[in-house]
Amino acid sequence: MIVIGGGISGLAAAWELRGKAEVTVLEAGDRVGGKLRTGSLAGTPVDEGAESVMALRPEAVRLAEEVGLGDSLCDPAPAPVTFWTRDALRPLPAGHVMGIPADPAALNGTGLLSAEGLARLAQEEAIPASPALTDGGDISIAGYLVPRIGQEAVDRLVEPLLGGIYAGRTDQLSLRSAMPFLAPVAASGDSLLATLRRRRDSQGAASSQGPRPSVVRGIVGGTGRLPRAVAAASGARVLTHSTALALERTPGNCTPGNRWRVHAATGHGPATLDADALIVALPAPAAATLLGPHSPAARAELDTVRYAGSAVLTMAFTRTRPGPAPDLNGFLVPPVDGRTIKAATVLSHKWAWQRDEAPSRLILRASVGRVGEEHLLDLDDRHLTALATAELTAAIGPLGSLLASKVTRWPQGLPQYEVGHADRVAAVREAIGKLPGVELCGALYEGVGVAACVATGRAAAERVLANG
Ligand SMILES: Cc1cc2nc3c(=O)[nH]c(=O)nc-3n(C[C@H](O)[C@H](O)[C@H](O)COP(=O)(O)OP(=O)(O)OC[C@H]3O[C@@H](n4cnc5c(N)ncnc54)[C@H](O)[C@@H]3O)c2cc1C
Repeated sequence: MIVIGGGISGLAAAWELRGKAEVTVLEAGDRVGGKLRTGSLAGTPVDEGAESVMALRPEAVRLAEEVGLGDSLCDPAPAPVTFWTRDALRPLPAGHVMGIPADPAALNGTGLLSAEGLARLAQEEAIPASPALTDGGDISIAGYLVPRIGQEAVDRLVEPLLGGIYAGRTDQLSLRSAMPFLAPVAASGDSLLATLRRRRDSQGAASSQGPRPSVVRGIVGGTGRLPRAVAAASGARVLTHSTALALERTPGNCTPGNRWRVHAATGHGPATLDADALIVALPAPAAATLLGPHSPAARAELDTVRYAGSAVLTMAFTRTRPGPAPDLNGFLVPPVDGRTIKAATVLSHKWAWQRDEAPSRLILRASVGRVGEEHLLDLDDRHLTALATAELTAAIGPLGSLLASKVTRWPQGLPQYEVGHADRVAAVREAIGKLPGVELCGALYEGVGVAACVATGRAAAERVLANG
């Protein structure tokens, strides 16, 4: 069995196959993990890609426990979601879903919305169900939300949160795929805010029975430990510096054309590897290149998937007093504010392990680049760092001396779940279903978060095993 792509999706597949098949993982890069990468900054570990995993769904946390990282799982310091907007840091009151407040009155006095924006938000009421959704279709997030809660609330509350997760835009992202919990509400025509209030109240009732669990969890020493641990525990043969270049169908023992030969470029030169089955755990362009010759229909769909590039800046400063407010874990920036950075994290506050690693330093992270802002990735490191430092200073106050900084670019960072994404994925899966012994997994399909990627990897492995 060959898994192509040593990101967390491919590694989760390899883990699921442990003890049941002989597995080789081909990874083009010099290390496993893909977008989970922990580097070093001034001698302290820092995450340069994903820095936490979703805890409200179980897959990533469970995998960490299974591979022996259970004791290293940690919660972030409690802190409200905060926006840097209208020239101030403004916390979003609790009781919101993806920035949409269940109770508009909670926003009074926060300065997050203008008086007109607040009044418009409060007018939300049942609007007839969206026909696009009632017949199983799709609509953009803005297409659903703007008529209900107004453009300003979407621009200033929802857009920055989605920018953080998808690096995408509400007028392009699919309601069905990027905010799936809202699709049934939209199709029913129920009041959005009334639905959110019911949801908040039922969660409040549940949480009154104990402390509210963290939405996300981290790993002491960095999330980059997760793929390394999975790779080691899976027992798979993991070949880094090994890029799959082409696939060839070869005769099987019983059925002609049922085996696969992978032509690869490895650190030791060209190689061919044979397998009964392949798990392709790659972003869309790489998957299209490999699978296109065998399935033009899949390639046609894969070619339409856009990616948003982004860059993560990690920076170590000397600590100054007073420094950032102690309950500030970071902030999000609405695009309408016209800043360069879209989000920042005070890593030294958010993660106790990060503070303990370097108590005399302030470790910050800033990210830049949403879909359509890829030009920012062309700025050189010094320029980007200077822009980010100036904006961080404007947002949180004077910073100490910059001791070290690092810019990590992710040109193909996040697939865009644009309107019609679910149909696109279904079409790709249907086309690939005609190729015996090929399964797909990765951030492209059923969610971009690490937990969703783990789920797709394990499911792909289960399908391979089920098909014998
Ligand atoms: C900056 C950033 C921050 C993020 N933060 C979070 C977060 O905090 N929490 C969260 O849950 N999610 C986060 N995400 C999303 C999440 O990290 C990714 O969606 C997820 O890690 C993708 O995993 P994957 O295995 O599907 O793909 P990838 O990580 O892209 O892995 C694919 C692998 O395939 C390899 N490859 C490509 N072509 C070939 C080839 N031809 N042959 C062999 N190998 C090949 C690549 O080198 C790569 O290692 C973030 C993403 C980014 C970009």
